[in-house]
Amino acid sequence: MTARDSSDNTTIGSTKLVPDVNFDVGFEKVAEPNSTQIKIIIVGAGFAGLACAIECKRKGHEVVVLEKFSEMKILGDIISFGNNAGRIFQRWGLHETFWPICTHHQELNLHNAQGELICVQKLPSVQFGAYSYNGHRGELHERLFAFAKSLGVDIRLGQDVSEYWEDEEVGEAGVISNGELLRADIVVGADGVRSKARSLVLGYDDKPKSSGYAIYRAWFDTHEQGVDRDPLTDYLVKNGDAFYGWIGKDVHFLASSSKNGRALSWVITHKDEADIKESWSFPGKMEDVLAVVDGWDPRCAAILSKAPSCIDWKLVYRDPLPTWISKEARLALIGDAAHPFLPTSIQGASQAVEDGVTLAVVLQLGGKSDVPLALRAWEKIRYQRVRRAQITGETTRDMWHNADPGARGAAVELPRPEWLLGFDAELHAYEVFDGIVREIREKGYELPRLPPREE
Ligand SMILES: Cc1cc2nc3c(=O)[nH]c(=O)nc-3n(C[C@H](O)[C@H](O)[C@H](O)COP(=O)(O)OP(=O)(O)OC[C@H]3O[C@@H](n4cnc5c(N)ncnc54)[C@H](O)[C@@H]3O)c2cc1C
Repeated sequence: MTARDSSDNTTIGSTKLVPDVNFDVGFEKVAEPNSTQIKIIIVGAGFAGLACAIECKRKGHEVVVLEKFSEMKILGDIISFGNNAGRIFQRWGLHETFWPICTHHQELNLHNAQGELICVQKLPSVQFGAYSYNGHRGELHERLFAFAKSLGVDIRLGQDVSEYWEDEEVGEAGVISNGELLRADIVVGADGVRSKARSLVLGYDDKPKSSGYAIYRAWFDTHEQGVDRDPLTDYLVKNGDAFYGWIGKDVHFLASSSKNGRALSWVITHKDEADIKESWSFPGKMEDVLAVVDGWDPRCAAILSKAPSCIDWKLVYRDPLPTWISKEARLALIGDAAHPFLPTSIQGASQAVEDGVTLAVVLQLGGKSDVPLALRAWEKIRYQRVRRAQITGETTRDMWHNADPGARGAAVELPRPEWLLGFDAELHAYEVFDGIVREIREKGYELPRLPPREE
């Protein structure tokens, strides 16, 4: 299938949503392999680590990825990449790889707890000139991993990085992984929410706080579980992919089908009264799940009870870190290690990808002799944008959890701002790098400042 086939969901009825997705991005900044001679160790092969490694390879750096998992398994459930990350995947030529396994719904049908339809929000997959990709985390990850390997990225599995260090006198940084000392010009901590790299950057252990919420989540085959044979659930699958939601006090419940209705995933955010641990595999009990929607539209219990099992994922909260780079600026934190997101932002994975791509660009522009300056510029480029994106997770959650039962339409719509989704992280880095470097040279490095909160 090509991007311009009529079957690719870029139309609703006779309305063409976005006529042209520019797969030919107009600028190609791919450098000769190893042309910069910058050596990079990336810890963690999640989306942040892989995206960083891929772009580093494209920019001519030498990169090694160290990953704790000894094999790549299909883990997790639904994950979303906004158009801002989609633009990058398209540039890498991954549309044909990702699109067939993604959800193809085009609107969110949002209800209140009583089951009244309160908003039908158009959510075209193509907006601001790029696709968004929502699909199974493990499946998308497997494909990104294979793409990184196909570019020749050196990914070493079964590596447990236990220590980090940097030495500005000799101009290097490194890690100890499985007892072995590895050196490079820069180390990137892409080691997720429970990052060890974070302690070196901060000089202390950053303890997570409970956000007060947890999420029950599930992903399953719709035919096996009878979703297509129950009138309380069949609308989710019988016309291809669909996206439905219900909101009530302190709760939101979202269900979306993918693969032309063959798979269903749901997430339901609830108060975290049991204080469960932070884990992607902690099981949830169906009786507890159903208790959350007691007295709600009966379609909610019908959808939830179709899942053969679910996990209970604690939503932890971390205050914004004062910095994402170490004292000597040879170690950078990216992705969840630097800034975990609430799922209601729908941006955690996308910002992780943007981080990695931006870092590869600034290292190319800074060159081997100016690695610390490039890292300081990278933090300045990224920090306020990421924080602004993070805050949308809180505002959307609060909008849904406190919505008046009579609220309709725009009052409950998911925000889709152009500053967030229309952004091109790679292009932006090329555009602003010189100015930011000049500012750091003139004024010296300053810790990042938080953006003012928008009302
Ligand atoms: C198993 C798993 C399942 C997930 N499922 C979902 C999901 O269903 N939906 C969703 O929205 N998000 C999910 N996430 C989180 C999501 O992937 C991230 O929020 C987002 O993509 C940002 O990615 P990241 O690369 O920063 O972090 P992560 O995706 O967490 O990746 C961090 C990587 O670092 C590795 N690592 C950690 N410590 C070390 C160490 N000491 N040495 C070497 N490697 C190390 C980890 O094994 C992991 O592969 C999941 C994460 C994991 C790890």
